Amino acid sequence: HAKQQGRGCVQFFHEELNAKLLERIRIEHELQEALEKKEFELYYQPKVEISSGKVIGVEALLRWRHPRLGMITGTDFISIAADSGQLVPIGEWVISAACQQAKQWMEGNERLTKLPIAVNIAIPQIHTDLPDAILRTLRRYGLPPSCIQLEITESLLIRDLEKATAVLQKISESGITIAIDDFGTGYSSLSVLKALPIDILKIDQSFVRDLGKNVGDTAIVAAIVNMARALALRVVAEGVENKEQLAILRSLGCDEYQGYLFSHPMPADKLAQQLLQTTSV
Ligand code: C2E
Ligand code: MG
Ligand code: MG
Ligand code: MG
Repeated sequence: HAKQQGRGCVQFFHEELNAKLLERIRIEHELQEALEKKEFELYYQPKVEISSGKVIGVEALLRWRHPRLGMITGTDFISIAADSGQLVPIGEWVISAACQQAKQWMEGNERLTKLPIAVNIAIPQIHTDLPDAILRTLRRYGLPPSCIQLEITESLLIRDLEKATAVLQKISESGITIAIDDFGTGYSSLSVLKALPIDILKIDQSFVRDLGKNVGDTAIVAAIVNMARALALRVVAEGVENKEQLAILRSLGCDEYQGYLFSHPMPADKLAQQLLQTTSV
């Protein structure tokens, strides 16, 4: 009897796995048409300077207005796009859409001109053509390199460090600021940090979540802030949701923060409206 039950479990497990796999294959397939059908959108989340309370930039976050599933976020499909080799064309669309937005803000209101847009880049996008692709897009919109920043997820960098370093070096030399995203969750050694042309460290939100409640997390954040300072890097905390977290980050000397405490990511128009209403831009 127990044997039968066990088999039933395995069967159930298989069905569940199959359903997950099928959904993944389906999404992979739908992704191929999403660009053409113009289903992608960028949302923007402000970056706030802790000392002044001013918004000093925004991060572009990819959203997919999915015909069947509704609006879905990066976490739900970026890895599928990466595995199926679709991240390069999607990434090119993201850079182009961000530049178009920067141009529109620049022309629309001079108070929005000074806000650089940070774009997320995953490792499959770091190919030798990337620097030229970015510069070409900037030229197409008549924008200076200071309009764009790149955020690169650390855990993925390590796989082909030499190639990534060369490509990032070229991008950095052109005047584009580079951040390491989700810092502290990857595998990179401190020598990787030294080798790469990095300007900014973004502390992963998993360390920020229990700031003040967990001594370990507070110590890690303090160490990252101190290290950033020693390496002359700017340091940004992500996922800041309450005032207690912000107070601790301020006392530790963190430069900037992002999170629901200040604002959720939102469509460009809504964000611009909100920024222009407040005096903090
Ligand atoms: P990320 O770059 O580390 O972005 C931060 C994520 O945290 C975003 O999720 C954002 O919506 C969310 N977030 C912001 N503030 C808070 C907060 O206070 N609390 C919590 N719990 N979450 C917060 P999202 O938009 O789902 O993006 C997830 C990841 O997908 C991003 O992590 C990034 O690695 C990737 N991604 C997003 N857009 C792109 C893109 O255009 N290209 C590539 N290659 N990756 C992207
Ligand atoms: Mg990011
Ligand atoms: Mg991050
Ligand atoms: Mg993240």
